[in-house]
Formats: sequence, structure tokens, C-alpha cells
Amino acid sequence: MSAVARFDVAIAGGGIVGCACALACAKQGFRVVLVERDALGSGATAAGMGHVVVMDDSEAQFALTRYSRQLWRELKLPAAAEYVEAGTLWIAADGEEMDGAERKQAWYAERGVPSRLLTASELAEAEPNLVAGLAGALLVAEDGVVYPPVAALEMARRAEQLGAQLIVGRAVRAIGDGRMALDDGMELRAERLIHALGANATALSPGLPVRRRKGHLVITDRYPGFVRHQLVELGYLKSAHSSSGDSVAFNVQPRPTGQLLIGSSRQYGAEDAGVDREILRAMLERAEIYMPGLSGLHAIRVWTGFRAATPDKLPLIGPMPGDETLWLATGHEGLGITTALGTAELIASDFTGKKPAIAPEPYLPARFAPAATSLSATLEEL
Ligand SMILES: Cc1cc2nc3c(=O)[nH]c(=O)nc-3n(C[C@H](O)[C@H](O)[C@H](O)COP(=O)(O)OP(=O)(O)OC[C@H]3O[C@@H](n4cnc5c(N)ncnc54)[C@H](O)[C@@H]3O)c2cc1C
Repeated sequence: MSAVARFDVAIAGGGIVGCACALACAKQGFRVVLVERDALGSGATAAGMGHVVVMDDSEAQFALTRYSRQLWRELKLPAAAEYVEAGTLWIAADGEEMDGAERKQAWYAERGVPSRLLTASELAEAEPNLVAGLAGALLVAEDGVVYPPVAALEMARRAEQLGAQLIVGRAVRAIGDGRMALDDGMELRAERLIHALGANATALSPGLPVRRRKGHLVITDRYPGFVRHQLVELGYLKSAHSSSGDSVAFNVQPRPTGQLLIGSSRQYGAEDAGVDREILRAMLERAEIYMPGLSGLHAIRVWTGFRAATPDKLPLIGPMPGDETLWLATGHEGLGITTALGTAELIASDFTGKKPAIAPEPYLPARFAPAATSLSATLEEL
């Protein structure tokens, strides 16, 4: 006979989103259990760059990223989590992109986000290793960088101190209808289940509108001061937006260790987790156009990870139509490190009935109702 344990909240997936949900729910006094198949903070969380960034793709994305960035600023992590407000420099390569930077600055200013335009010479002074001849940049000084796996682990530990139970090394086999079945035959029962399986979401819930989007990152040896801000080409948004095909963009992050993270790439339909040499070459060639000196640096490791992409580029946060016990917290694509904290607060507010800090509607899974219906069918079959 299989063992059964009861909780208020049972969370599947111990990436940064699941760990943030565990902490937010434990803080509200819920009896929480979190189940992670591999290691806490592995998955996309270990593969991510850790750029904590306010984005302006849509009002909904802006609201969630700005709220979440504020929560990161308040979290007070230990030094090992390497949270630093390095600031983002959105690089304009030419006059047309500089016009885009000006529009971005005006948009942020209207919404109370401090940012400042840099002329070509100010940019060259701020980042001397950038190629000469760039048009300028927009500096968003309050954006940060963090070391995601350590931040996730820290949140899980804090949740544990508040009484949460962490089950690591066991997989969730099925989730729904107030039950979570584990691969060792154990069953967890909870009034509220949170599905936080990231890009693995459809393995348990095939009807979810989530696609896996592969990315590569390179990390270099230590070169303190070589790069001072998170550097992103304004064309990055084109890469992030393309809904088909492979794309690369210049995106470099200085780690507090002096190492550089070099990205980024996006690929749909690439299921193999191995390094794709062609896209890696394209990514590095793109980076060297903006920063030629990168070619002389020593790279020590390359890895890949999978983002969980949704059709409208917004995450799935909230109740799952057709199952009143199930909440989704997935589909964060390339912003899940940033938005994990806002996601967790939205879900905890829903559980407690408190007014959320931002409107939850744009992220509700119910916006994909047909897919949701097929998910309920899947759960009934379990
Ligand atoms: C190359 C790259 C760069 C990125 N850069 C950034 C960035 O700079 N800023 C940013 O905000 N975001 C970034 N992201 C996105 C970010 O990493 C993700 O959105 C975020 O990590 C998603 O977290 P998660 O907890 O939803 O998923 P994950 O971290 O993938 O966690 C899901 C967890 O579920 C576990 N799991 C899976 N199946 C089961 C099962 N059956 N039972 C139990 N556990 C299971 C997995 O082991 C995993 O630990 C990047 C992503 C990539 C790939």
C-alpha cells in the first residue's frame, strides 16, 4: 500500500519558480511540500544568465518584471547569491536603434523607471571594450544580476526553516485533483497544487501551451573590469520575439567573480541538450562584432538550457481551468529568474485572498481555454 501525506500546498518542481513559491506560501503559514526530481535550482535555473531586468515588450510583461525586480531588491540574499545591481546597457548600434533607445527611455520615464541615455562617447567611456562607432545606449541602472541556483537554494532553505518539507531526488509522476503521485509510490495530498516544472511542463500536462526553447551560454575565465554592466544589443528584442527559426543576439554579463557570461541563442525544435556548434559560432561571432576583444579571452565552459515559451510571451500563473486544486507557475521563457518572485507572490495572494500587488489577469492560464480543456482531459485520465 502506498504512503499518503497531507499538506496545504504541494509544489512540483524545485527550480527558481518552485522555490520562490515554497517560500511565499510558507511565509503565509501554509504547510508546504516541494518535490524536485534532480537538484534544487537545477533545470533552466542553473542554465540561466541571472539578469534581473525590467522589460517593456508589453504592459503585462513590464508590470511583472518591474514588480519582481523590486522584490529582488528587497530579498536580501547572502553574498554567495551574487546579487549586484550592475545595471543594463541597451546598446544602440546606429541612429535608428538610438531612436529606439529614446522611445524606450520615454516609455520607462512615463512609468517611473529611472533610465538615462548615453551618447556614443559616454558609452565608450562606460564600456571601453565595446567596438568603436556605436551610436549610444540606454542605461537602466537598477537592473541586477544574480547567481540563480544559489538564490533558488536560499529560498528553499528559508521555506524549510518556516516548516516546508523538501523532497529531492524523487519525480512527480502525476499531478491533479488534489493529488501528487511520486515515482516511489508515495502520494501527496493538498488542497492546492502548484505545477512549476518549467520547460518540462508538458511531460506531465501535454495540453499546456508551452514549447521548449533551447539556449546556449558561454562562461569565460576571470577578467575583472573587462565588462561593467549587463550589455544587451537593442536587437535582442527581435531575437526574443522571433516565434520561429534560430536566432542569436549580443548579451554579455559581468559576474562578480570577474567572469563573463556570453549569450544568447534561441532555438525551437532543438530537443538535444548537446552544444550546437553552428549556433554557438553564430552567437560568438555576434558578440565579437560588438566586443572584438572577446576573441582573445579564454572560455572555460559552454552549456545549454531550455526556456518554457508560451505563444503570447507571458507566463502561465494562476488556477488551471477544470481543476480547482491546481495552479500553474510555468512558461516564463527567458525571464523566469527575474519574474519568479512576482509569480510566487501572485500565487500566494490568490491562496490567501489578499489583493495582489499587480493585476493577475494577463497571466491567467484561462486565456488559453481550449488548451486548458485538453489538459483537464489528460488529468482525468491519470
Ligand atoms: C540560456 C538561458 C539564459 C537565461 N537567462 C535568463 C536571464 O538572464 N534572466 C531571466 O530572468 N531568465 C533567464 N532565463 C530563463 C530562466 O532561466 C527560466 O525562465 C527559469 O529558470 C525557469 O525556472 P523554473 O523554475 O520555471 O524552471 P526550472 O528551473 O527548469 O525548474 C523546473 C524544475 O522541475 C524539475 N522537474 C522536472 N520534471 C519533474 C518531475 N517530473 N518531478 C519533479 N521535478 C521535476 C526540474 O528538475 C527542474 O529543477 C534563461 C534561460 C536560459 C535557458
